[in-house]
Amino acid sequence: MSGTDTDRVEHDVLDWFHSAWDPDLSLVEWRTRLVDSGWAVPSWSTDWHGRGLPAWADRVAKTAIVSAGGVHNPLGVGAALAAPTIYEHGGDELRSRTLRRTLTGELAWCQLFSEPAAGSDLAGLQTTAVRDGDTWVVNGQKVWNTSADHADMAILVARTDWGVPKHAGLSYFVLDMRQPGVEARPIFQMNYHQSFMEVFLTDAHIPRENLVGEEGGGWRVARTTLAHERSYSVARSVEFAAGSVGRVIDEARVEAGVYMETYRWYPQRRGRAELVPERAKTFGVADDPVVRQEIAELWSYERAAQLTAERANAARALGRPPGSEGSIGKLALSNVARRSNHAHSTISGAQGMLREGHHPLDDVIAEVLLSTPAQSIAGGTDEIQHNIIGENVLGLPREPSVDREQPFRDVGRRN
Ligand SMILES: Cc1cc2nc3c(=O)[nH]c(=O)nc-3n(C[C@H](O)[C@H](O)[C@H](O)COP(=O)(O)OP(=O)(O)OC[C@H]3O[C@@H](n4cnc5c(N)ncnc54)[C@H](O)[C@@H]3O)c2cc1C
Repeated sequence: MSGTDTDRVEHDVLDWFHSAWDPDLSLVEWRTRLVDSGWAVPSWSTDWHGRGLPAWADRVAKTAIVSAGGVHNPLGVGAALAAPTIYEHGGDELRSRTLRRTLTGELAWCQLFSEPAAGSDLAGLQTTAVRDGDTWVVNGQKVWNTSADHADMAILVARTDWGVPKHAGLSYFVLDMRQPGVEARPIFQMNYHQSFMEVFLTDAHIPRENLVGEEGGGWRVARTTLAHERSYSVARSVEFAAGSVGRVIDEARVEAGVYMETYRWYPQRRGRAELVPERAKTFGVADDPVVRQEIAELWSYERAAQLTAERANAARALGRPPGSEGSIGKLALSNVARRSNHAHSTISGAQGMLREGHHPLDDVIAEVLLSTPAQSIAGGTDEIQHNIIGENVLGLPREPSVDREQPFRDVGRRN
């Protein structure tokens, strides 16, 4: 990627944008125009709503359109995880039924991967899909499924063959969440939010065309989603360029409000490192050598995490598939969250436990202390990221496993 290339793409995007932008359109009408132009995901092929450009063009297009006062793709699991996976592995019928409507924001998605006995060991999942003519019938339980209560569709991994080793018996599906066999129950979290659900599937139906990839090839497809997930960061806030007005913007603000409601505690989950120095001053401990040392260490880790994220972005911009940079970056964010939690605890002491304390930020800090553990779990735990880095980056021997080779039905259920 050279500066000239990005300048040219930016110029082309803006050229199109200035001729196409109409703030009086509805959000869906505007995004339909955006998808038709190929600037929603320019790295996709011209047959599938794209322009066949390198991966870096996606970011250039988005930044140019948002900076010029427009609106780009919806946030969340749909555009970030489901769409690229279906684009890469889905059949044409499924692609035409889902990709456009996901990019316009008409379809909201959730991810039904984890189960009570299968999180890190995702390949050990037990939700089962059985073929019945042209339909798959699904039974089982999923858990920790963010936004499952208001999703239209789900990406789902289920076991379709118990007679082969665990990775080989999985298939990847798109499931319609709006059907009688799907029940999403909210989980009350220790930080008082309810952003994820447990989902019970009882004779839920999936049409044959909603199989993504091959029957039994679900692990390969799931890995595509997981790689995107590791390098995906949830927006902390949604901003619109100064002076942007009109129906499109109004509707995008409402959409962003709904989205941010689910993820309201996610900034706290990252540790709110930026609040640490000010808190130290407020509590009169900014001169304390131990606190100063903690702050300096935290700052170094945060800066290193930022640079790692930039490296991952640069790799993606060069068109490299998401890889180990995602794991390293994710681990770096966990380190920052943990250290930030520690610094806040050191500074606030017992007051950090008060949801309504003496200082305006007390409730935020209390939420930080209760939310940072999630950072090292969501999207693959720290230990799993260590394993990926050990095996894929350092070339260490593979983690020993006792249940990889035999048919899954002989491995024994763990719940
Ligand atoms: C905020 C949040 C949002 C989430 N959203 C979703 C969602 O939308 N959809 C979805 O499907 N899931 C979601 N999850 C679930 C998440 O993917 C799982 O929690 C995660 O994969 C860990 O699985 P587990 O909870 O079963 O923990 P376990 O796998 O049971 O792990 C327990 C502990 O054992 C360690 N461990 C396990 N295996 C190994 C190993 N091989 N080597 C070393 N240590 C190991 C783990 O690191 C961890 O410390 C979400 C989780 C969180 C926290």
